[in-house]
Amino acid sequence: MSLKNVIVIGGGLAGLSSAVALAEAGFRVRLLEKRPHLGGRAASYVLPGGETVDNCQHVTLGCCTNLEDFYRRVGAGNQIRFYDRMLFAAPDGRRGAIASVALPPPLHMAPSFAFFPLLDWADKRAIAQALLAIARTGGRPADLPSKCAGENVTMLAWLQKHRQTARGIRRFWEVILVSALDEELDRIDARYGIDVFWKAFLSSRGGYRVGIPRVPLGELYEGCRKALAEQGGEVQLRAGVRGFLVVNGRVDGVEMEDGSVETADYYLAAVPQDVLLELLPAEVVEREPVFLSLRNLRTSPITGVHLWFDRTVMSEPFLTLLDSTTQWVFNKTQLYGDAGETGGQYLQLVISASYGLASRSRQEIIALCLEELREVLPAIREATLVNPRHFRLRPARTGGARRRGAHCRNYFSQGTGHLPAGRPQWREPYVAVTWPPKQYSPMLERQGNFCSRICQRKDWRAYGPADREH
Ligand SMILES: Cc1cc2nc3c(=O)[nH]c(=O)nc-3n(C[C@H](O)[C@H](O)[C@H](O)COP(=O)(O)OP(=O)(O)OC[C@H]3O[C@@H](n4cnc5c(N)ncnc54)[C@H](O)[C@@H]3O)c2cc1C
Repeated sequence: MSLKNVIVIGGGLAGLSSAVALAEAGFRVRLLEKRPHLGGRAASYVLPGGETVDNCQHVTLGCCTNLEDFYRRVGAGNQIRFYDRMLFAAPDGRRGAIASVALPPPLHMAPSFAFFPLLDWADKRAIAQALLAIARTGGRPADLPSKCAGENVTMLAWLQKHRQTARGIRRFWEVILVSALDEELDRIDARYGIDVFWKAFLSSRGGYRVGIPRVPLGELYEGCRKALAEQGGEVQLRAGVRGFLVVNGRVDGVEMEDGSVETADYYLAAVPQDVLLELLPAEVVEREPVFLSLRNLRTSPITGVHLWFDRTVMSEPFLTLLDSTTQWVFNKTQLYGDAGETGGQYLQLVISASYGLASRSRQEIIALCLEELREVLPAIREATLVNPRHFRLRPARTGGARRRGAHCRNYFSQGTGHLPAGRPQWREPYVAVTWPPKQYSPMLERQGNFCSRICQRKDWRAYGPADREH
């Protein structure tokens, strides 16, 4: 029997995980990616000096089992190192750690929380009571409206209702949730925020563990090509799709940017929601409420800052900063296992939901981050930013020089908002679409999960918000 053909559009995490899952389920998959590399928003690129860097640090958590499963299936599981200790730094440089001990959940983190020096007793008492309310109800506190009620309570409102202190909100809830969901507390649905705490901190001992790649992100996807090739499929780079060809409610093919037409038995679009709207014929978008509503999704910004120093300025693998614009600092030199070779250090900073930086220039953002870091990592006061060419964390691929020792980029993350349930009324062959709902987990986890559920569907019909798990 000949294999069914699938075209997957987009080689980000959603496209890759879908393509691999479909290949494993016996489909011949052609993955069409517009750019010259895989990974989408979680990708690596080469600086003019030849250094391979990630667009921005990506982390996972122990509770992100779909993502872990995806990495394992493409042979990259051992490239993620999990850390048991989360280390926090106050603006004055004081440190505090959270880790688990040999107690059953939800008590496994209680001792380190009790001795956490960067919160006081009033903060901790309020936090403990709120966590208890979550734990007692298996992550579904009774004072949250049900999904069917159609009401939404923001995480901030829920925390205020549970009498959290201002410092507890800033130094505990916000610090975890803003980075896990890339959104501010007053824009996060409390159900999803609470889910993060339930899954990462309360329901299991290892859910909070921070997983960080030991290699540039691009290297994690190398096994995907092999998985597709085993079923006669392939990855095509620089293969941008211009649009779907829809005739009488039926997808007849996709038109490529070079004007050629590609056809398959099934099509799967794993592109950001705004791109999907461009790929669909305008009359289809106008006719289908599900597609129309994609216009209402907003994106939230994330800022990544890269700093290359001439000396060692940080001893920890990563740090979470409290009460600062900078949220996370990753010691990439140490995380890549290249410690000390050049004598210098490469740090990557991440600022999620960075709405406040939108009007700032790159230089201003870098200056602001450096000012904050000088307090937390005093060695920076004596250090100099150097050309990243001096760092050979990974083999150089291109020539050229780069004069600055700092680099900053703003990105947009997930679409956020509420979509009406429903499915596009298309006839076969169906198109499955992915758009990223704001869910409980770090974002990659949703993409890692997207397709395994499609593959379980025997009829493989149009896949819309109605099918989402909540
Ligand atoms: C700076 C930053 C940091 C982040 N950090 C984390 C983190 O630490 N943990 C976490 O869980 N999540 C994180 N995220 C979120 C995570 O990166 C995204 O959720 C995930 O990568 C999205 O994957 P995707 O496949 O849905 O979309 P994308 O990654 O956007 O992939 C879409 C792909 O489609 C391709 N494409 C677009 N148009 C076409 C076309 N016409 N034809 C063919 N191909 C096309 C694009 O080139 C791209 O490769 C971060 C995001 C950003 C931006």
